[in-house]
Amino acid sequence: MEYTERGKLSIKTEFTSRKRNQIIVSISLIAMIILFVVFGENPDHVMLGMPATVWGPAFVVLFTGGIGFSLFNWRCPACNKYLGKSLNPKFCSKCGAPLT
Ligand SMILES: [Zn+2]
Repeated sequence: MEYTERGKLSIKTEFTSRKRNQIIVSISLIAMIILFVVFGENPDHVMLGMPATVWGPAFVVLFTGGIGFSLFNWRCPACNKYLGKSLNPKFCSKCGAPLT
């Protein structure tokens, strides 16, 4: 598929914002995993005045939400297909749209 210069620019702009969101979500998920591991080893640990019994389910909800957002967000702006595991694809592997 051929793209106009304006089309390419809007794809790149959209991809840049999706990539930023993806990095934020990835860092949040990694932070949650670390906290989850810490809590797993110290079930009596209290964080921000709330015990692990409160944080456990909250983590599960946030983590699931983060994964869901990631799957929804990490898509090609042109064809809306999932971009895979690479955090810095140059082209969409599905439709070939230039992303950077
Ligand atoms: Zn694509």
